[in-house]
Amino acid sequence: SDTETGAGSVRSRLTVLSGPSGVGKSSVLAELRRQQPDIYFSVSATTRKPRPGEVDGVHYHFVDREKFQQMIAAGEFLEHAEFAGNCYGTPRRPVEEALASGRPALLEIELQGARQVRVAMPDAQLVMLMPPSWEHLVRRLTGRGTEDPAVVERRLDIAREELAAEKEFDEVVINADVKSAAADLLSLMVGPRISGD
Ligand code: 5GP
Repeated sequence: SDTETGAGSVRSRLTVLSGPSGVGKSSVLAELRRQQPDIYFSVSATTRKPRPGEVDGVHYHFVDREKFQQMIAAGEFLEHAEFAGNCYGTPRRPVEEALASGRPALLEIELQGARQVRVAMPDAQLVMLMPPSWEHLVRRLTGRGTEDPAVVERRLDIAREELAAEKEFDEVVINADVKSAAADLLSLMVGPRISGD
């Protein structure tokens, strides 16, 4: 399903980026978007309430539980999962359209969703974004200040589990520096395949 356009081209394929809460996925993706505007960045649906600055339809489609259930029933999700008490799902159609039109697509989703994509689309490339250290992650999650301490605790517990799943991923990118992490991720999406088919 890759476009054979040679070295340096963007592969027409699906990349899944996962990583623990607080690792800096959104900063890395904002930088990647700046470096490579041709990538389709999936916009998930979620039942979580918007954080300050988050825009409906841009960062997420913010929906209530009832609407989310309807979307599941209608088969609208490529994958969906519950995370820290909220539902998240990837609308299937825009991803399929992007891939069909030759654009590479990127999903930023958590572990259970990544596993579902692995089954649904075996050709997908799974990338885990890792913090340089555990302490780094704790600092980031505590310092965000947008969630109450119980929520932070819960996210740290999940983070521990997510990091333990590293072996299930095709590639690991360490986020010591946003610019280089974005460049590393881009190089996994661009150019000739190093492994695989
Ligand atoms: P947050 O609430 O911090 O925006 O996201 C919480 C977690 O949900 C993050 O790990 C994020 O990657 C994940 N997530 C966001 N959208 C989706 C989605 O569509 N599906 C799944 N499975 N996880 C998602």
